[in-house]
Amino acid sequence: MTSPRALVIGGSLGGLMVAHLLRSVGWDALVFERNTEELASRGVGLGTHPQLIAVLKRAGIPFDESMGITPPRGVCLDRHGSIILEQPMARALSGWSRLYRALIDALPARTCRFGKRLTRVEQDGAGVTAIFADGARESGDLLVGADGLRSTVRAQFLPDLEPAYAGYVAWRAVLDEADVPPELWHEVVGLYAFCLPDGEQLISYPVPGRDNDTAVGRRAYNIIWYRPTDTATLTDICTDAAGRYHAAGIPPPLIRPEVVARIKADAERLIAPQIAAIFERTTPFFQPIYDLDSPRMVFGRIALAGDAAFVARPHAGAGTTKAALDAACLADSIAGAGGDLAAGLDRYQRIQLPFGKALVQLNRDEGAYLSAQTKPKAERRGAELHRDPRAVLHAHIARSDQIGEIVAAHGLGVQQGSTG
Ligand SMILES: Cc1cc2nc3c(=O)[nH]c(=O)nc-3n(C[C@H](O)[C@H](O)[C@H](O)COP(=O)(O)OP(=O)(O)OC[C@H]3O[C@@H](n4cnc5c(N)ncnc54)[C@H](O)[C@@H]3O)c2cc1C
Repeated sequence: MTSPRALVIGGSLGGLMVAHLLRSVGWDALVFERNTEELASRGVGLGTHPQLIAVLKRAGIPFDESMGITPPRGVCLDRHGSIILEQPMARALSGWSRLYRALIDALPARTCRFGKRLTRVEQDGAGVTAIFADGARESGDLLVGADGLRSTVRAQFLPDLEPAYAGYVAWRAVLDEADVPPELWHEVVGLYAFCLPDGEQLISYPVPGRDNDTAVGRRAYNIIWYRPTDTATLTDICTDAAGRYHAAGIPPPLIRPEVVARIKADAERLIAPQIAAIFERTTPFFQPIYDLDSPRMVFGRIALAGDAAFVARPHAGAGTTKAALDAACLADSIAGAGGDLAAGLDRYQRIQLPFGKALVQLNRDEGAYLSAQTKPKAERRGAELHRDPRAVLHAHIARSDQIGEIVAAHGLGVQQGSTG
């Protein structure tokens, strides 16, 4: 008997995890990625949660010491670089490319097809067909849209749903540990550090370095700096030197030099000097922060997963964990429905829809004081209370527990460990 066939659109972390988990329950899963080659160069850090690690294990990928770094404590630094708060923490920090490498290497080579940009989907009672920009067509029993924030699959079925800009951007920067000045090395490189300039939030931590190395001296230091940015300023910084506006996000090399010079000057003025000195040596780029909350995840034989369905602000560092749980729930629901695909997809949506919504809300709450900064002062008082450093640090470190509570509340806890 031939295996049922799934077409997975999007070959990033979400799509690869869906392919792994569907294969683990007997499906033949193919991944179609619009980029022409492997996505190897997103050198940014990625927070993990136990649920992500459990799903990776189900895919046959052990999360050992080579996968991440666990700083012993979280600290909050004031403007002058002094530690004003300190708390133990135990969260493994990995890198986007470290997980990507492990996931793609563990799939058979023929699974991922590159240079395949989906334009449209057709379906009937017998199957689903993906139509690509190059004119090719692929047929299967199920199609999973794991094609991210600007999902083509979602746009076909929910054309009026747009990501909502949260009113701030995340500036991101990474520096090889070897390039961190030696006098700063002991001060920050092993730490999960916060800086809280007025109405802003910066988090920095060590991540696997080039070649995904986690050995001391060969790691990298990762910085995420959330900055309230009104829409006029966002339009300006998304406009390149030739005057072209990049509505869906400006590629990092096209950010105008004066925009980069300005953020570096702000770093020197606003954040702890040891972090500013690292930031100064990087080539920073930014990502606007969005909320996306889908009313449905299933349309006949088509399901959404990962960022295509829900985008939670990144404060809890759980976007990849959510994508992993989507993948596991999708596979378990289909396998448990004994050949009734519609029933399996219905169960998937019943569980993952409220889970996605809860995760979006949790992160919206954590970022509320950042969103509030671009509003008139009179509207800001309530949200601004969350700026208290102690509250911010404690809430942030407690997120792992809260993710676990949301997972348990939505009946996801048992399945994740089932083969782990
Ligand atoms: C600032 C920031 C920090 C973050 N930090 C963390 C963190 O610490 N921990 C964490 O877990 N998550 C974090 N995330 C979120 C995380 O990056 C995503 O939630 C997660 O990787 C899941 O992504 P995805 O695979 O669903 O979508 P994406 O990674 O967006 O992938 C979508 C893929 O689909 C492809 N595609 C799109 N359209 C088409 C098409 N028409 N045809 C074919 N292919 C297509 C794209 O090329 C892309 O490869 C962060 C996000 C941001 C913005």
